[in-house]
Amino acid sequence: MMPEATTALSPCSAKAGAGALTDAFCRRISYLRVSVTDRCDFRCTYCMAERVEFLPRKDLLTLEELDRLCSAFVGLGVTKVRITGGEPLVRKGILGFFRAMSRHLASGALRELTLTTNGSQLARHAQDLAACGVRRVNVSLDTLDPGRFARLTRRGRLETVLDGIAAARAAGLRVKINAVALRGHTEDELFPLVDWCAAEGHDLTFIEVMPLGETSIEERLDQYLPLSDLRARLAGRFTLQPLAGTTGGPARYLQLAETGQTIGFITPLSHNFCESCNRVRLGCTGTLHTCLGQEGATDLRAPLRACPQQMDLEEAIRAAIARKPRGHDFDYSRAAPGGAVRRAMNRTGG
Ligand code: SAM
Repeated sequence: MMPEATTALSPCSAKAGAGALTDAFCRRISYLRVSVTDRCDFRCTYCMAERVEFLPRKDLLTLEELDRLCSAFVGLGVTKVRITGGEPLVRKGILGFFRAMSRHLASGALRELTLTTNGSQLARHAQDLAACGVRRVNVSLDTLDPGRFARLTRRGRLETVLDGIAAARAAGLRVKINAVALRGHTEDELFPLVDWCAAEGHDLTFIEVMPLGETSIEERLDQYLPLSDLRARLAGRFTLQPLAGTTGGPARYLQLAETGQTIGFITPLSHNFCESCNRVRLGCTGTLHTCLGQEGATDLRAPLRACPQQMDLEEAIRAAIARKPRGHDFDYSRAAPGGAVRRAMNRTGG
């Protein structure tokens, strides 16, 4: 029997070491994903409505508040911080935030500071990001066809993103391409993306489409392309070798024997990674989501603004982590057309 998550101080803390951030199921939380804005310069059809109402600016945490919160997590043993959005690089002053956070890399408390971006602003920021200690970047790219890219993102230019990726590489950053698997689309994109990533030396991961944004469940089910389909197509051309090991997240990896390339598969809706889940997500308004597939969330903005003492903030974080659910259980196989599928992320916490 697993213990109930009822107390603020996890009984697992003693086992994991004094001060370690553990939940009621003895999972050590070491990975924080932080959305720094809900705004984005793209409107990807599977992610955002074309006309989206963004949050009032006053609801967003300031960059100083984000720094304070992230630093509290680092103080509690988080060793990897991923910055995301919306589009993180459209937030004004974001490089200052990266610069400030890099002090935790310098001290050794933080092992990795990284980001997920659509690449539209990478060309002008890649050098500075590298100077802040960023070593890897995830770039979302679903197609190498300029027309399809424009239609899918509704307002992006493929060339700009490719320039951004080239600038990232020139700055010494490792690039991982994330492509969302979409029916009627990714079937044609699979081999061009695999071949391009092999030629350019980028890692590549496919992501199962999740029920986000304003899209109806009927549309979503139309878009849904199981990653098993892509895997079967790859098996027709390559010898697939599953790789052991996990990052504590929803990705599974396999290697293409002929090229040595590693391909990731992210199936966020399956619960096959909950037992080793080491991550939590902080939305740009200060809401902490401790599980990808559950609605439960904790507001950290109020304690952040109310507590001048970092100690009190740490207690609020510990209490939130102690409520991290054991796992989630939704997937498309449970979703009848027209039926309810819970949202995996909300607009503040991509
Ligand atoms: N703007 C940044 C970007 O494009 O990478 C960061 C935010 S974006 C929400 C983070 C990732 O979520 C991207 O890789 C994007 O493709 C993915 N994503 C967005 N909507 C999705 C959906 N409905 N299902 C699965 N992944 C999705």
